[in-house]
Amino acid sequence: MPISNAETLHEQYIALLQASATKLGKRTIKLQEQHFRVTDGYYVSPNMYRLVVTAPDNIPLNHPGYAYLFELNAEVLSTINGESENNDKPLQRYYTLRKAWRDPIRLSVQAWIDVYIHGNTPGGNWARSLVCGMPIKTVRDYPEKIEHLSEGQCLLICDETSLPTVANLLENWQNPLPPLVIAITEDPEDISYLHTLNLCQHLGHDERFLQDNLLHIIKTPTTDLSEQIISLLHARLTTLPLKIGKVWGALEAADIKSLRQQLKVTLGLSRQDMVIKVYWRAQ
Ligand SMILES: Cc1cc2nc3c(=O)[nH]c(=O)nc-3n(C[C@H](O)[C@H](O)[C@H](O)COP(=O)(O)OP(=O)(O)OC[C@H]3O[C@@H](n4cnc5c(N)ncnc54)[C@H](O)[C@@H]3O)c2cc1C
Repeated sequence: MPISNAETLHEQYIALLQASATKLGKRTIKLQEQHFRVTDGYYVSPNMYRLVVTAPDNIPLNHPGYAYLFELNAEVLSTINGESENNDKPLQRYYTLRKAWRDPIRLSVQAWIDVYIHGNTPGGNWARSLVCGMPIKTVRDYPEKIEHLSEGQCLLICDETSLPTVANLLENWQNPLPPLVIAITEDPEDISYLHTLNLCQHLGHDERFLQDNLLHIIKTPTTDLSEQIISLLHARLTTLPLKIGKVWGALEAADIKSLRQQLKVTLGLSRQDMVIKVYWRAQ
């Protein structure tokens, strides 16, 4: 099919990726529509807003980091922002399945989607505007790369946007070695999000794991994030000698640039063992 614009090129690239991944038996981005329905919404930490949804039957129940590209409802946004949106191109945002389970009473799949609210932005406004019974459409599935975390000493690095993935990873941790977790939040109180998990048995007693293995960085406008992460890591690895073999992280684009480089030097890991994703961009 002839390609007439960049968007078509992108979609065709994804379709090609999808076809080759299917042949290789790998999970990759899927262009497909999925329909959810909101049943509830409430804050689970000062700035993390939870949507409870009824989900399609085919969603993965055990894949931490599985995300969807949500189409934000233009009517809702234009009402909230007091201005009309350009309806040609719907606004879209990625959000992760925090948890999904089959509900035996409702006979359907239920899920949590946790949206970090950082002021008056389209994603946060959309999430808070949704009320019980409203439909939500997603247009793309995005399975996060986490397979490398099943063995070896792992380091997980998250900010508010990737807290839902780390929470799900910790609740479903299969690796016998407990991971080291570095969580970055702007509001110190948002760390409470990780203190209300139903930690998996491998990780032992909740409080002990969180006390020993969770390192918290409070980000300020002047924080040099990669420097802080590296120095925290150095300090931690001096008191408790661990050989980090695998890394998963997701942060802001600019923060990642120097972090990738510095972690590579500090830990000496290959690309396959160090997965660090861009989850958002500061403007
Ligand atoms: C695969 C994937 C999964 C994701 N899963 C989640 C998830 O489960 N929960 C979640 O909350 N987010 C998640 N994100 C990130 C989310 O998609 C972005 O945060 C979102 O695009 C922000 O949309 P917005 O409309 O709120 O702000 P935007 O319109 O993107 O930005 C508006 C303004 O807010 C600032 N801003 C944007 N994001 C942040 C932030 N996180 N902190 C501080 N300032 C910010 C920007 O600099 C900009 O000035 C995920 C991203 C990806 C790629």
